[in-house]
Amino acid sequence: MVVGDIATGTEVLVIGGGPGGYVAAIRAAQEGLDTTLVEKAAYGGACLNRGCIPSKALITGSGLAHEAGNAEFMGVHADPAVDMGKMVEWKDGVVDRLTSGVEKLCKANGVNLVPGTASFVDEHTARVAHGGEGQGSESIEFEHAIVATGSRPVQIPGFDFAEDHVWTSADALDADTVPDRLGIVGGGYIGMELATTYAKLGADVTVVEMLDDILQPYEDDVKRIVRKRAEELGVEFHFGEGASEWSEAADGGYLLHTETEEGEESTYGVDKILVAVGRQPVTDGLDPERAGIETDDRGFVETDDRTRTAVEHIHAVGDVAGDPMLAHAASKEGIVAAEVIAGEPAALDQQAIPAAVFTDPEIGTVGMTEAEANEAGFSPVVGQMPLRANGRALTLNEREGFVRVVADADTEFLLGAQIVGPEASELVAELALGIELGARLEDVAGTIHTHPTLSEAVHEAAVAARGEAIHTR
Ligand code: FAD
Repeated sequence: MVVGDIATGTEVLVIGGGPGGYVAAIRAAQEGLDTTLVEKAAYGGACLNRGCIPSKALITGSGLAHEAGNAEFMGVHADPAVDMGKMVEWKDGVVDRLTSGVEKLCKANGVNLVPGTASFVDEHTARVAHGGEGQGSESIEFEHAIVATGSRPVQIPGFDFAEDHVWTSADALDADTVPDRLGIVGGGYIGMELATTYAKLGADVTVVEMLDDILQPYEDDVKRIVRKRAEELGVEFHFGEGASEWSEAADGGYLLHTETEEGEESTYGVDKILVAVGRQPVTDGLDPERAGIETDDRGFVETDDRTRTAVEHIHAVGDVAGDPMLAHAASKEGIVAAEVIAGEPAALDQQAIPAAVFTDPEIGTVGMTEAEANEAGFSPVVGQMPLRANGRALTLNEREGFVRVVADADTEFLLGAQIVGPEASELVAELALGIELGARLEDVAGTIHTHPTLSEAVHEAAVAARGEAIHTR
C-alpha cells in the first residue's frame, strides 16, 4: 500500500463504467454482492458520452434538417438553417440525462461508486488514484474483479489527434461548426455514420478507404445501397487509398495525402480530417499483468465463454475483451460476468448477436448470411422482400432496401437476416428474437404483422422463403 492510501474491501470490483461495467455492477449488486464501480471519467463510457448516443442524436438532427430541406416533391417548402452549436447543446442534454440516469441506477441498486483511475497491484488488490491534485488514492481489496475499460480510437502515423484539424469520432460529435470540407479516413461503420451526418449538415465529405469498398463485413448488395445513397448526398469515395500524411494548403485549409498499394499518390483539399480506422483496447495504466491477466498481440484481454480471464476470479467484458465491439454485447457480457461470480450457471450462449449501422438507410443484421450458412454446412433457403413493394416504406418515401431472411431448408429454422432500409436497426430485433427462440419460417409467416408497417416486409420475406410470397414474384 502507498503511504496515505485508504484501504477498503469489496466482493466485486468493477473497473470502468461503460455499458459493460455499469450493467455488470448493477447485476452483481442485485445478486446481493458487495460491489464497487470505479470510473475515471464519465458514467456510461464511450457509448453514452462519445459513441452510440451522441452519434444517433446528431444523425437525428442532421436527418431532420436534410429531410425538411428536400421535401418539395411532397409539397413541403423549407430552407432549414442549422445552428450546430444548438444541435450539439441538445445532444449534450440527451447525454447528460442518460449519464446521470446511470449514476442514479447504480446508487439505487446499492453499488459503491468510486471516481478515479484503477490499476492492479496484484491479483486481489487494486489502487485507485482519485482525479486531481491532492485527491489521494485508495487501495481496494477484492474477491472478484470485472475489467470493463473499453476502447479508444486507433491513431495512425502522421495524424496526431492533438492537432486541432485531426478529429477523432468524439471531436466530430462535439464540433460546434460544420467544416466546409471534411476528409474521413476509413469507411467502416463509424466513418460512414459520420459521413452521412456531415453530408446532410452541408459539408463536402471525402472518404478515403484502403479496401475496395465501405463497410467491409457486409454483403455487396447491402453496401451498394448505402454507398449509392451517400453518393447522392455528395459523399466522394476513394477506394484502395491509404491516408499517408496531411499538409497545409495555400487556401488556409489542409491537404489530405493518400497512397495506393502501387505507390500512386493523391491529395484532397479538406478543412478537418476525421480518422476512423478502428478502435483499440484501453489497458494502459491498468497494469493487468500485475494481476496475471493475459492479453493477445493486439492488447485485447483474453476471456472464455464465461468471461473469465486467465485468472479465474477476474473477468473482462466489453470492448477491452475484443469483438463484437458493440454496446449491447458489452452489457450482455457484463450480466454473464456478474452471474458467474454469483455462482449461477451463466455463459455466453447467444445464438446470434444483432448489429446495426445507422447510415441512411440503416443496416440491421443478425446471424448468418446465405454464404455463411452454406459454409456452416446448412442448405439455406432465402426469402427477400424489396421495400419498394412495402406500403409503409413508400409512405416514408423509401424505395431502396430489402429484408432478407436465411433459414435452414430442411428444418425451416431461422439462421440469419440482413435488412437495409429505414428502421432496420429496430426491425432486426424481431428476427434476433426468432433465432434465439429457435423459431422457424412458419412461426414468422404465421404471425400477423400490423399494416401498414415496415415489419410486414419481415413477414413477407419469411413467406417468400417458403415459396408463398403474396406481394412479390
Ligand atoms: P466503454 O464504453 O469504452 O467504457 C469504458 C469505461 O472505462 C470508460 O468510461 C472509461 O473512462 C473507463 N476506464 C477505462 N480505464 C479505466 C481505469 N483504469 N479506471 C477506471 N475507469 C476506467 N455500439 C453499438 O452497439 N451501437 C452503436 O450505434 C454504436 N455507435 C458508436 C458510435 C461511435 C462514434 C463509437 C466511438 C462507438 C460506437 N459504438 C456503438 C460502440 C460502443 O460505444 C462500445 O462498444 C461500448 O461503449 C463498449 O462498452 P464498454 O463498457 O466495453 O467500454
